Amino acid sequence: MNLEEIQAVKNLFSTPHKIVIVPHKNPDGDAIGSTLALWHYLKDNGQDATIVSPNDYPEFLKWMPGNDQILNFEKENSQAKEKIHSATVICTLDFNHLGRVGQMTGFLEAATADFIMIDHHQEPADYALITYSDVKMSSTCEMVYNFIEFLGDTDKITRSIATCLYTGIMTDTGSFKFSSTTSRTHRVIADLMEKGAENTEIHHQIYDTNSADRMKLLGIALNNMVVVEDRHTAYITLTQNELDSCNYKKGDTEGFVNYGLTLDGIKFAVIFIENAEEGIIKISFRSVGDFSVNQFARKHFEGGGHDNAAGGKSDLPMFETIEKFRKLLKDYKTELS
Ligand code: 5GP
Ligand code: MN
Repeated sequence: MNLEEIQAVKNLFSTPHKIVIVPHKNPDGDAIGSTLALWHYLKDNGQDATIVSPNDYPEFLKWMPGNDQILNFEKENSQAKEKIHSATVICTLDFNHLGRVGQMTGFLEAATADFIMIDHHQEPADYALITYSDVKMSSTCEMVYNFIEFLGDTDKITRSIATCLYTGIMTDTGSFKFSSTTSRTHRVIADLMEKGAENTEIHHQIYDTNSADRMKLLGIALNNMVVVEDRHTAYITLTQNELDSCNYKKGDTEGFVNYGLTLDGIKFAVIFIENAEEGIIKISFRSVGDFSVNQFARKHFEGGGHDNAAGGKSDLPMFETIEKFRKLLKDYKTELS
């Protein structure tokens, strides 16, 4: 953010507003962590703020301080709509085009509020009064830390804020191992620890709450993995039946796609997960090196994201989706060999 934008935000927050904070659909650790951190900060500074999530999210994210105050647009629909309608400021976090909030899209488009976007994905849309977009950032949580710093308020980072920000930085960097992790990321993390974030406890809450059902599903996923050697690609499929057989709950497949990348020589890993209710195959793409899965997802599967981590979907049945994908791989000989 430049000085003018920082001043504009300071001016905006110098008077009381009705603020709605929104993460993307199927929010992850960074989306929930960043919205909760910003919510605590705004509330602590006298603002009337509410988080509205487009839909539900995994149990392993529900322990963060303030979680019980988040409105679910699907479950608390009329209350959520009223908040969006009467908002004077809407902060959208961890996404950059309004199509990323599912059924909420039309309501955000119709809102009269001024928008603030804080996000690290590629190709931001132009809907916000203040666009703080930086694709080099590890996470939206690191950006919320910067945002608070821009406003001169790092001394107002409480233990709750620190906990939420630590969580999102940790989940979006694969516990500080992805190439987006910088020395600055570690400095921010150090400060968050000094402000009360408990690293061991946060790690435990996110990663050590597996169920036996989820382990069984991981077994099925790994068993289904297909390696396309001449394209350095590994992909996994999970059908609705397979999910049902393990009493699938939201979040159970989190991280499965990364197993493909742990194979020696693999540059491109994909997971295709059937969602019978929505009639789609939800897809996650991961890569190492310079193969841009953001471009791939954008071009072929109505998605997007980052260079090395992106998502998308297919409206075709599983078998045809895989056929389409395998055909596409043929066209990527140069990029993937
Ligand atoms: P995941 O595969 O973990 O769901 O998402 C990986 C990254 O891609 C995340 O940064 C996520 O926000 C983004 N992403 C996931 N699905 C979609 C999608 O359908 N559209 C776009 N534009 N981004 C997505
Ligand atoms: Mn993120």
